Amino acid sequence: MTEERILIVGAGLSGAVIGRELALQGHKVEIVDSREHIGGNCHTERDASTGVMVHVYGPHIFHTDDAEVWDYVNGFTTFLPYKNRVKTTSGGKVYSLPVNLHTINQFFGKTFRPDEARAFIEEQADKTIADPQTFEEQALRFVGRDLYEAFFKGYTQKQWGCSPTELPASILKRLPVRFNYDDNYFFHKYQGMPENGYTEMIGRILDHPNITVKLATDFRREEADGFDHVFYSGPLDGYFDYELGRLGYRTLDFERFTYDGDYQGCAVMNYGDVAVPYTRITEHKHFSPWEEHKDSVCYREFSRACEPGDIPYYPIRLVEEKAQLADYVALAEREAGVTFVGRLGTYRYLDMDVTIREALDTARLYLARKAENAAM
Ligand code: FAD
Repeated sequence: MTEERILIVGAGLSGAVIGRELALQGHKVEIVDSREHIGGNCHTERDASTGVMVHVYGPHIFHTDDAEVWDYVNGFTTFLPYKNRVKTTSGGKVYSLPVNLHTINQFFGKTFRPDEARAFIEEQADKTIADPQTFEEQALRFVGRDLYEAFFKGYTQKQWGCSPTELPASILKRLPVRFNYDDNYFFHKYQGMPENGYTEMIGRILDHPNITVKLATDFRREEADGFDHVFYSGPLDGYFDYELGRLGYRTLDFERFTYDGDYQGCAVMNYGDVAVPYTRITEHKHFSPWEEHKDSVCYREFSRACEPGDIPYYPIRLVEEKAQLADYVALAEREAGVTFVGRLGTYRYLDMDVTIREALDTARLYLARKAENAAM
């Protein structure tokens, strides 16, 4: 296979994994990122005043059922056991999440066994809603008004900036309640946290003689000249200079504060009440329970509509955005020599394991097509 010059936009997980796969096959890979660090939104760094490893763009917990992806990440760093156990403050009390038997018993002041709790929640459910259309109707039909208002309504409203009556029922696909005491947020077989943070791991993925990384460098389309192919993990609408308008995102603001000692006793505390303006507080030292830190650094997290210049976090993907997305995808399909990848390039929320899976598959498909063409 002839050696190619590949340009990758974005040094997050998508760019790093694709870059490495191509570099391993002898291609010369140049990666540009507008930020001053690698790692994209998974970036972690030590807080200067406390020494705590901070998840700079929000809490990131690795969880997957994909054994190949798990082996892949473990090839670059040591993952230590970590289970995400989230708490929530609602109506002046603290409860366990996801809503489980402990939450139900505590909230209703009961000592239900699983089957009793299930029957009780079925009684609470609003059976007059035959065909739920909105998030609110779906939640009321699943869990009834009391649990909905305490644990779903306010958080959802703050997270998405609109009433749950304006969100589709499809967001809440299954009964969001467990009838046991399992408070592990994720069901996946493999779960953990990289011992020295994600940025170190991504740095090792990028560490190959065929890869060069240029930070603080914005991609412009004319720069693609001279490269055989571009993998673009920046925002899809940004690539086309927003010519069809801006795809809607939610952005996050983080308000950092330090605390002498232990602030909340857990990594993530949600706030279900609308009167509290933030959605959650993250106390970062609990993501590294194997490290000892006396003092804490915490982030209050606020969600709001993404404006030009803000960091796009969560794609909104409602009816209007999906129509606009289809028009951008049509433009992207006409763009020769460019593959749009990752969470921003495809305008989807992607967990890290899915991001890595898709990046491996994209690189392999590209290499297989090149090999086929060379053989013809
Ligand atoms: P990104 O990480 O966004 O990387 C894209 C890179 O491209 C960025 O570094 C950006 O600076 C660069 N870029 C963009 N435009 C340009 C340009 N024009 N020129 C140059 N560079 C450019 N996943 C989990 O599995 N577990 C979690 O707990 C979890 N928590 C999350 C919490 C939050 C708040 C969010 C938003 C996501 C979370 N994720 C989680 C998902 C995870 O962040 C993504 O899977 C991952 O970041 C996707 O990597 P990426 O490379 O596709 O995108």
